[in-house]
Parts: sequence; structure tokens; C-alpha cells
Amino acid sequence: MTPPSANPVDVLIVGGGIGGLSAAYALAREGLRVRVLERAGAFGEVGAGLQIAPNCTRILHDYGLLDEVKSLGVLPRSMVMRDAVDGGELTRLDLADLERVYGFPYLVIHRSDLHGVFLRACRREGVDLVTDARVTGYENTSSGARVRLADGRADEGRIVIAADGLHSVARRLLIDDEPVSSSYVAYRAALPIEDAGRDVDLSEVSVHVGPRCHFVRYGLRGGEMLNQVAVFQSPKALAGEEDWGTPDELDSAFAATCPDVRSGIPLMWRDRWWRMYDRDPLMTWVHGNVALLGDAAHPPLQYMAQGAIMAIEDGWVLARHAAARRAGDGAIDWQGALAAYEAVRPEHCRRVLTTARAWGELWHLDGLPRLQRNALLRARDPYDYSFTDWIYGPTALTPEEEPPMFTPIPLDTADVSGLPGDTDAPAPAASSPRG
Ligand SMILES: Cc1cc2nc3c(=O)[nH]c(=O)nc-3n(C[C@H](O)[C@H](O)[C@H](O)COP(=O)(O)OP(=O)(O)OC[C@H]3O[C@@H](n4cnc5c(N)ncnc54)[C@H](O)[C@@H]3O)c2cc1C
Repeated sequence: MTPPSANPVDVLIVGGGIGGLSAAYALAREGLRVRVLERAGAFGEVGAGLQIAPNCTRILHDYGLLDEVKSLGVLPRSMVMRDAVDGGELTRLDLADLERVYGFPYLVIHRSDLHGVFLRACRREGVDLVTDARVTGYENTSSGARVRLADGRADEGRIVIAADGLHSVARRLLIDDEPVSSSYVAYRAALPIEDAGRDVDLSEVSVHVGPRCHFVRYGLRGGEMLNQVAVFQSPKALAGEEDWGTPDELDSAFAATCPDVRSGIPLMWRDRWWRMYDRDPLMTWVHGNVALLGDAAHPPLQYMAQGAIMAIEDGWVLARHAAARRAGDGAIDWQGALAAYEAVRPEHCRRVLTTARAWGELWHLDGLPRLQRNALLRARDPYDYSFTDWIYGPTALTPEEEPPMFTPIPLDTADVSGLPGDTDAPAPAASSPRG
């Protein structure tokens, strides 16, 4: 490996996940010298799926990468939400119409395929990609910022972007906080479609929502693969046990779900699982010449399927502001660019993080609130986009461009009289997002 400090760069990026690589590409295509420091021995991603909404495919189009991403993914025709207990349909999105409304498609793709698209794009743009480089410390200098590596070396850039994920070291420069456990755990599976053992409709993204659990299913790689995510609340986590989220809990969490969901559970990977953490929103992301990006700044619960998307948006916004502040001699007003980035992105991501928490609560309701939720979702006009405009529209570059949020509908406005089911549980005080 080349000693990192041998060749100074404009932008030093810590972390080669989707956030770090997409930001590296965004900045390198503006003509900047960019280096990525990744702690792992190779650049890579976990082999499971990602949903990519129009607010991201719009950026991929701008990057000239959308056709490649489309060729590797699947363009589903609809997204259908069903009740995980009785299997009944609750609501749907017509994704062809969604593309007509927002101008760009909703697609699903293998994470490693999207990561690979950015890795190849970075190589084409001459990004210096360094592995086995674990960053342990950051400091501002008179001319930029410096990082320290675990092996004793140092490196520096005019600015440093920390895209080092949920357990970010750089975040400690800004706040002394910890990841927040949701007590939920995610199991994943990505397998050849012929191993599914039955017919699965890959023209849809299917989401089953149930008491303390949900199940997501869609196709990958042009329909050659099936992707599944099974998420549930861990009783052992609630009891304070260390060893939580284990496969025995998976089976009992889904025991009372409908046959369609139950048939997917034996296919889940059982040798690894993902405990679900987020962090409280952080509104300050810049410390001198060091800026947070991606999960380092805003790790969400994944219910909005916007975590990787927010990371990609961050890099696009920062690169646009850097390009807009380049003088004739090529020098960039980085303080201005970082201030413009920080003026717009934290508020957008705060909205996504808090909506994801509320959306997860809504998905996992039981008793009367579950029936109220179902009634509201069934009453929804599938062609009403007032609840997605704030998220799927163009990514805001300034606070003024950030669209208004949707109007929540209180659960207790639902008419559930005459519906069969358990109506003993109290209704929660919280109101629900539309949709
Ligand atoms: C079950 C599940 C489903 C999801 N589904 C979706 C979805 O459908 N759509 C969506 O948009 N998002 C989704 N997400 C969220 C998404 O996966 C993340 O938000 C996104 O991957 C974050 O990317 P990142 O690059 O910021 O961080 P990471 O992917 O965590 O990358 C951080 C990188 O930094 C490296 N690193 C860490 N520390 C150091 C260090 N000290 N020095 C050097 N390198 C370091 C790591 O090795 C890693 O490569 C989902 C998440 C989960 C758990």
C-alpha cells in the first residue's frame, strides 16, 4: 500500500461504504483530488438488497450511472403493504405511476452491485482507494485536517469527510452520544430464485407489517435472486439479556403470521443478524475542516429505506456546493461549501430519522391500534402522493428548497366499528404518517 501522506489531496474520505465511495465519486468528477481510507482489507458490502427511491435515482442519472444501476437491479411494478397476520392488502404504490410523477424510477438492487458501480466510477475518476487504513483520530490544522491511523501513520487533506458509519470515530468531535438500541433485529437472505421453493411474485416489493415484526421481499439481479428481510422485536433485548436476536427468537416472532410470511422464514440466513440501532438526530456535522457524511451523521432505523440514499444525497449536495464556490484559480471556498452543506442536510435527515421511528411504530402495532392503522391504510388513495412528495422529490440544495412534510393522520380518526378483532388494547397517543 502507498503511504497515504505521500500524495496530498483536496478531499480525504474515511470509510469506503456506499456513502464514502459515492461522495468520492461526486467530488472527483468535479476535478478534485480525492483519497478514500477504508479500514477493511478490501472494498465491499454485505450481499443483500437495497431499495433505491426516485430521490436517489435522480442523482444516479445526474452522475451518468443510472443505466448501469438499472441493468444490475430490478424495476418492480408495485410496492404492496399487507397485514402480516391475516395477509390482507392494506395499501400499494403503483411504481410506474410513481416514476411518471417524480421523473425517476424506484428500483431494488444488490448492495454489492451498487457499491461496485461506485467503486468502478471512482477508479475511472482516479480516486486513490486505500485499504487496511483504520483511522483512530482527527485534528484540524492551519491548512486543512489530519487523520491518525491505527498503524501510526498520518494523512491529511484540505477537508476530511468522515463516512465511517454507525460507530463513527469522528462523530465524537461533535457530540458524546451512543447508538440507540431499538430492541429490534433484522435477518436477511439473498438467494437464487430457484432455491425459494415456490413461486414468488418479483414484480412487487412486498412488505408485511405485523405485531412487533415485519417482513420484506423483493427480487434482485433481473429476478435471478430473491431478497428477504425479517425484522422483529427481541424479547431478550427487552429483558436486558446480552445474547439477543438469536434464531430461536426469529422463529417464535413469526409463528403467528400468515402462511405467505411463514414460508419465507426458513430461508433466512441464520449465521448472522443485524441488531437495529439509530442515533438521535444531530444538527451540527462540521468541525472546522472535518465533516460527517452518511450513517456517521444520521444512522436511521431502516423503515423508510433511506439510509444509503441519504448518504448518496449528502455527497451530491456537498459536491454541488463545492463546485459552486470554485474561484478562477481553482481554489474552493471550503468553509462556504461546508456551511451550505450543514445548512440543508441535517434538517432533512432529522425528518427522515424521526419519521422512520414513527413509521416503525406504526408497522408494529397490535390490538386496536393495528386495526385503526389498517383502516387508515385501506382508505388511502394509492395515487395520493402528498405523503411522499417531501422525500421522493428533488434533493434540496438550500433550506428554502426543502419541501414541507406530510400531514399526519391521527390513528383514532379511523373508523373501526364493525371490524372483527382484538379491540382491547389502548390507542397510542402518537399520530401516524399517511400511507
Ligand atoms: C436491514 C437493513 C436494511 C436497509 N435497507 C435500506 C434500503 O433499502 N435503502 C437504503 O437507502 N438504506 C437501507 N439501509 C441503510 C443503509 O444500509 C445504510 O444507511 C448505509 O449503508 C450507510 O452507508 P455508509 O457508507 O454511511 O456507512 P457504512 O455502510 O457503515 O460504511 C462505513 C464504512 O466505513 C468503514 N470504516 C468504519 N470505521 C472506519 C475507520 N475508523 N477507519 C476507516 N474506515 C472505517 C467501514 O468498514 C465501512 O466500509 C438498510 C439498513 C439495514 C440494517
